[in-house]
Amino acid sequence: MKDHLKVSKEDAQAILQKLRKGNWIDFENQIQRDTDNVYIPLKNTEVDEAIVNLPWVIVSIEPVPSKDKHLPKLAGGAFDLIGDIAITKIRERDRAIHLADALTETHPNIKGVFLDKGITGPFRLRDLELLRGGPGTITQYRENGVIFRLDVSKVYFSPRLATERMFVSREVRVGENIIDMFAGIGAFSLNIAKTQKASIYAIDSNPDAIKYMKESIALNRLIGTIEPICGDSLEIINALPDADRIIMNLPHESHRYLRKAIEKLRRNGILHYYEILDMKGIEERMEEFRDLGLFIMKKREVHGYSSSLTMYSLTAAMTGE
Ligand code: SAM
Repeated sequence: MKDHLKVSKEDAQAILQKLRKGNWIDFENQIQRDTDNVYIPLKNTEVDEAIVNLPWVIVSIEPVPSKDKHLPKLAGGAFDLIGDIAITKIRERDRAIHLADALTETHPNIKGVFLDKGITGPFRLRDLELLRGGPGTITQYRENGVIFRLDVSKVYFSPRLATERMFVSREVRVGENIIDMFAGIGAFSLNIAKTQKASIYAIDSNPDAIKYMKESIALNRLIGTIEPICGDSLEIINALPDADRIIMNLPHESHRYLRKAIEKLRRNGILHYYEILDMKGIEERMEEFRDLGLFIMKKREVHGYSSSLTMYSLTAAMTGE
């Protein structure tokens, strides 16, 4: 038997909100219901009227263990885990807090849960608010056998591109000369250098991204070489040798840099281009690629961005025609 807070169905929502905020609910067990009442499993019974100022009573009933031992249902796909830091974009505050409680409760390794209030500025940084846990934002994250060190508040990083980065790294051949134009902490670059003997120029305008890229390079045993360069790709690229492969992962603005990238791409060189577009937009972009002498080898939907927009990846070869 276990102590549950018994409340009427009408009051349940308001009381649940307060209990979630105060971290009172025992998520190991399910919230139970009958026709009139809701029974909320409690971590302890010291709940007082200051917390729940609506009618309630504590009853001892048989607990029903949660089906999902790890997370509440709302958690599916609702957060990104970067090392030991969880980041959610859930806009409804109560749901976000509920998730944060459940995560810290069930995953002792998670040291902080943050709300991502949007990505801003030229460095594409997340505006983060701490929901639960400690305020530390530096972490170590592992993807495809590569270790990254980063500060989630000072650099852009999304674990959702891990598979895409693996796809790209698998296509690289020995001896390639590569330019990663918007490298961030070097996520594409390190994935490639981990598995292939290639030379990579990894450019980013954010000094913190370059700092963490250098730290990550030092943490890994790489086969290829990476030269981190801090600055504006549009200028830096002029001084670099022509490339066998160029990666353009700046999905809101890549188009602005397209012609500059093409100038640097060798004949038969490969372009990995990412852009957020609607269906008409991607068709137009592909048409433009053909006009520019790029042969489209692959078009992929990386992930949805909004109801009408998608992040697309285009892999194209420079025909020189
Ligand atoms: N490719 C990285 C990854 O997979 O994690 C991160 C890409 S992030 C979407 C875009 C990055 O481009 C940011 O780190 C930002 O600082 C950088 N950036 C934006 N404008 C730039 C520019 N003109 N030149 C170089 N880097 C730029």
